Amino acid sequence: MREYKYQYIDGQWREGTGSHMLENRNPYTGELLYTYRSASTADVDAAYAAAARAQKEWAKTSPHEKQGMLEKLAQAVEELREDAYECLITEGGSTRPKADFEVATCIEFIKRAMNFPLMMNGKIMPSNIPGKENFIYREPKGVICVIAPWNVPMLLAMRSVAPAIATGNAVVLKPATDTPGSAFLLAEAFDRAGFPPGLFNVIAGRGCDIGDYIVEHPVPSLISFTGSTEVGRRVGALAGGKIKDVSLELGGNNVMIVLPDADIKEAAKAAVFGAFFHQGQVCMALNRIIACKEIYDAFIQKLVEIAGALKVGDPADPETFIGPIINSQQADKIEKVVRDTIAAGAKVALEGRREGNLIYPWILVDCTNDMPAARQEIFGPAVCIIKANDEDEAVRIANDTEYGLSGSVFTGDLFHGIQVARQVHTGMIHVNDQSINDEPHVMFGGEKCSGVGRFNDQWVVDKFTTEKWVSIQSCYRAFS
Ligand code: NAP
Repeated sequence: MREYKYQYIDGQWREGTGSHMLENRNPYTGELLYTYRSASTADVDAAYAAAARAQKEWAKTSPHEKQGMLEKLAQAVEELREDAYECLITEGGSTRPKADFEVATCIEFIKRAMNFPLMMNGKIMPSNIPGKENFIYREPKGVICVIAPWNVPMLLAMRSVAPAIATGNAVVLKPATDTPGSAFLLAEAFDRAGFPPGLFNVIAGRGCDIGDYIVEHPVPSLISFTGSTEVGRRVGALAGGKIKDVSLELGGNNVMIVLPDADIKEAAKAAVFGAFFHQGQVCMALNRIIACKEIYDAFIQKLVEIAGALKVGDPADPETFIGPIINSQQADKIEKVVRDTIAAGAKVALEGRREGNLIYPWILVDCTNDMPAARQEIFGPAVCIIKANDEDEAVRIANDTEYGLSGSVFTGDLFHGIQVARQVHTGMIHVNDQSINDEPHVMFGGEKCSGVGRFNDQWVVDKFTTEKWVSIQSCYRAFS
């Protein structure tokens, strides 16, 4: 795998000046891939200064020039496709299908963003003042700070980076410490595409060391954060203290409701994907499945049959569906929530086991909504099944959580499915599909503690720009 030992600041690859050496490890083998020096607060200052400089000129370029550069960026990511697969698998434990999806969607996000320079529409508005004309201009926000998680590191960085650049902003990206390579590979793509120095910068360092400094820094006017609700709360509070805008894409505790008239086999197939894709380490993954009593036993039987046949192991093996958990602390956390849920009275329908950072799928049944795995985001290959007496009870249990990201309803009646879906308090929900869906042209975002703001297409153009009122007086006003 490519070794990225340098920070990417102002178009240059520079050694970090932080006091820590950081390690990049393979979560499956435990092998040390390489070490690099962390970014310091001085590196953060340098990245923001470069971004602020570069943004001023970039904002003046025509939509056509921006589109041309984004096209080159998409080509550069395409050229780096094999390196991207290797990086996502080696440092992130992605399976090959997940890496494939991630790179393809990353390119799709860039291509979609090519429309954005021509979507920066303003308005002309009437005035009650004689001789006045009102113009509303849509302007870039300036410098945008993007903070990315480790689970889908390339795609979730690009989901913010491409729209930010397309709408005339500059970016400073801070990747998660477990997956720096995925971000530096994007820096390499920007470098190859020939973007002006400083327009896109990557600074890698631990959130606990430089995170607050990055968020509170005076240069960025928007913090686009994707990560846990816990850290998102802190980022939101710090940004609020500095009166900065935020986009917060946070954790989930996503539910599938299986109604009595659902196709049990299709629901079980979808549930296995929704609960175990990328080892359950997806914000939209299924945490809870609420099955109505009429189909409860039959559904569990099918679910266990399908999940029990999943291949667990080396993420580089194309047949593997469940690869490693990102690191041993995270695997310990998942095991603990499963053990605590069993101790609270849940039964085990499919028993998982641990081999290093691999966790085989767990299916916990006869759960109640107050058990640990039902309350917390598991973020691992485990799912809890709850029995509901009827549809109303299923909806009530579904809504009894602090999260509200995605969800799913399975039913034989699609129109009724929509009525049920609309009662579940989430930003996104899918009828007769599982909860993991993200299409670059469709709105994305959560409710409650799952986030603030909406992504993709016009929603992200609005979020990453600001509006400015300019008026002109065609004749001087009479002030007295
Ligand atoms: P995390 O621990 O919250 O970390 C996310 C990012 O924040 C990392 O880059 C992390 O850096 C950084 N960070 C940590 N402390 C910080 C601070 N004080 N100030 C600024 N940044 C700080 O989340 P994660 O474990 O990487 O990702 C998993 C979580 O993300 C899950 O809860 C998942 O549901 C959520 N997620 C949500 C979405 C969505 O679209 N809603 C998508 C993907 C993931 P370090 O790595 O250096 O600590």
